[in-house]
Amino acid sequence: MKERELEVARAAKGFMPDDEGLALHEAGLDGGRIGPLLEIGSYCGKSAVYLGSAAAACGTVLFTIDHHHGSEENQAGWDHHDDEVVDARTGRMDTLPFFRRTIEDAGLEAAVVGVIADSPGVGRYWAIPVGLLFIDGGHADDVAMADYITWAGFVVSGGVLAVHDVFEDPADGGQAPFRVWQRAVADGFAPVSTSGSLRVLRR
Ligand code: SAH
Ligand code: MG
Repeated sequence: MKERELEVARAAKGFMPDDEGLALHEAGLDGGRIGPLLEIGSYCGKSAVYLGSAAAACGTVLFTIDHHHGSEENQAGWDHHDDEVVDARTGRMDTLPFFRRTIEDAGLEAAVVGVIADSPGVGRYWAIPVGLLFIDGGHADDVAMADYITWAGFVVSGGVLAVHDVFEDPADGGQAPFRVWQRAVADGFAPVSTSGSLRVLRR
């Protein structure tokens, strides 16, 4: 990664430690040889810099989908809430301005395509096969599984599936991403690596 990309990724708001971000970048370089990258859950663009940098290096793009109004666990009163991302006009979360600045600051506007939409909603119209799918959207059980069901079929043979916030032990965190990982393995994705809570698999 370029120095500037790393600095911007590290400074961006988000929930991804550096080592997991770098592992995600590696997965992006792997999948980016095969096709474009697709992220579910852009938030403020932190992980999109790690992946967007990989897309740029591979001469492809990262599509990243988010309605930018936050997941259940990002709302006021929940663990992963940040008051600074609330739109004073509506009282709702709006991470889109933060996302735009992050991608601009990283110099990755040509490589990162923001898709502002509900994930299953846009999935009904999607037709682009991908070399990597990164699932890091809502972490409620039904929401995370809906993302998997909507998007996993777009990963081409040999392509990469990455799932964030996978915790085998309920004491460490919510179980929805772990259940998605288990479902992916049951569906024939082969586990490739684990870096913290980031799990990488191959189709
Ligand atoms: N990948 C980011 C963090 C994503 S946080 C990073 O590591 O930097 C999860 C995001 O999923 C939130 O921004 C939330 O708005 C989004 N999200 C949750 N449910 C969604 C849905 N149904 N459609 C689109 N985005 C959704
Ligand atoms: Mg995450």
